Amino acid sequence: MPIQPAVAQALLNIFGEDSVYLDAADCWTYGYDNSKLHHPPDAVVMAASHEQVLDCIALCKEHRIPLTTRGRGTGTTGAAVPIHGGVVLSLERMNQVLEFDPGNRSVRVQAGITNLALQNFLKLHNFFWAPDPSSAEYCSVGGNLACNAAGPGAVKYGSCRDNTLRLKAVTGNAETIITGSKTSKGVVGLDLTRLLIGSEGCLAIITEADLKLLPLPSDKNTFRVLFTSHAEASAAIQALMAQPHTPCALEFMDHHALDLLRQHSPLQLPVAAAAMLMVEIDGDPDSLVVSSRLIESTLTALKPLQINRAHSVGEAKELWAARKALSPILRNLAPNKINEDVVVPIPQLSDLLAGLDKLSQRYELPIVNFGHAGNGNLHVNILYDASDPKQNQNAQSSLLEVFDLVLSLDGTLSGEHGVGIAKRDYVDRELGEAELRLMRQIKQQFDPLLILNPNKGWPTEV
Ligand SMILES: Cc1cc2nc3c(=O)[nH]c(=O)nc-3n(C[C@H](O)[C@H](O)[C@H](O)COP(=O)(O)OP(=O)(O)OC[C@H]3O[C@@H](n4cnc5c(N)ncnc54)[C@H](O)[C@@H]3O)c2cc1C
Repeated sequence: MPIQPAVAQALLNIFGEDSVYLDAADCWTYGYDNSKLHHPPDAVVMAASHEQVLDCIALCKEHRIPLTTRGRGTGTTGAAVPIHGGVVLSLERMNQVLEFDPGNRSVRVQAGITNLALQNFLKLHNFFWAPDPSSAEYCSVGGNLACNAAGPGAVKYGSCRDNTLRLKAVTGNAETIITGSKTSKGVVGLDLTRLLIGSEGCLAIITEADLKLLPLPSDKNTFRVLFTSHAEASAAIQALMAQPHTPCALEFMDHHALDLLRQHSPLQLPVAAAAMLMVEIDGDPDSLVVSSRLIESTLTALKPLQINRAHSVGEAKELWAARKALSPILRNLAPNKINEDVVVPIPQLSDLLAGLDKLSQRYELPIVNFGHAGNGNLHVNILYDASDPKQNQNAQSSLLEVFDLVLSLDGTLSGEHGVGIAKRDYVDRELGEAELRLMRQIKQQFDPLLILNPNKGWPTEV
């Protein structure tokens, strides 16, 4: 529905002419994210300040216009797609570092700064912010917070929820709130910071964040380990997590993934290799000697097919090449791909992988699995051709069985990508009616007219 002229004028008054797009062609490009789902908004506005965000929400509330916040649109679940039209509020121009406080190990940023721009700034001062999604170059810190994003480093350093001190945000009721405190300890009131993190723009729009910093480790050691079965690799993951030196990356690839690398990349992998682990540890050179020795002896005791240790940055890059080559290969392999990011407790990884293999055989579809094994987080990729009715049906049926399998193993449906619309209708498989009711009531408190990213995150009450 086109924006009413009076509302369009009010948007122009708030943001100025060069920060409001009303033309359908301009709006079109703000209707997608990385889920490939699309719905155009009726207006796009580019915020430059907290006050503009506040005024925009007040306007949308007054006119009951749906409002979808957009970081950089790299989300994979349709969470940033304005499924009901309305206004897309882009934070891409709110990209400043506001305050750097090394003595407090904290930095305050505007929410639209990209993860990489922040890391580049921090690197100059020998610090880093732990969340390290592989989309860092493009995604915003606000989007990271809204999705509780993470990457390989989460096994040691945690996700956004573990690395955020305080948020400034505007609720759907057009009120400014400050959640948490700038201190690393604090227990006053309920933990609204962790409630907003992962809430996918459904409760409030985050405009500023005080983030917890960590000192940049001075060195890294990298190992690539090949196994003849995923059961052996799973045993190695448990053994690595049971010893005291936590890896800063513990990544897994299954035999389908290794087969793809053999077929589509120049990498030479032994025929018997059926699972691969990438293990990385960081620290200062002295502590690395000790931790590398322990990691290597833990792995050697499990008699893997092959262990390669990098002795230089270049060699580490070569070892990581296999893991990095996979995503581009997967993108072009089949016309369609269902990409899930399920999580199970680490001891259940072996059962999950065995179950996925059985589903792949029964439904006659390749299911390629890789991911952040140190968190039990697997990216499950079901490859199919949607124009083939049988394959399409099999893909959808196998997906439901993947979810049932994960939940039967005490797992959860998403580790880092979130729910958006892609997973919304599966959420009640994991959450009970009491939990869902509480979430709907919380939404109502933050956003009484349900204007913020409506109908995302969990099934709407019927
Ligand atoms: C190639 C690729 C690799 C990826 N790798 C990873 C990975 O390793 N780990 C990982 O976790 N994810 C990964 N992702 C997913 C995605 O990059 C992350 O979810 C990222 O955090 C999204 O940030 P964004 O700025 O693009 O947010 P968007 O896609 O614009 O928005 C995502 C959600 O956040 C909300 N939102 C955005 N900004 C705010 C704000 N300021 N306040 C409130 N709500 C807001 C939006 O409304 C939407 O619901 C990957 C994506 C791609 C395309």
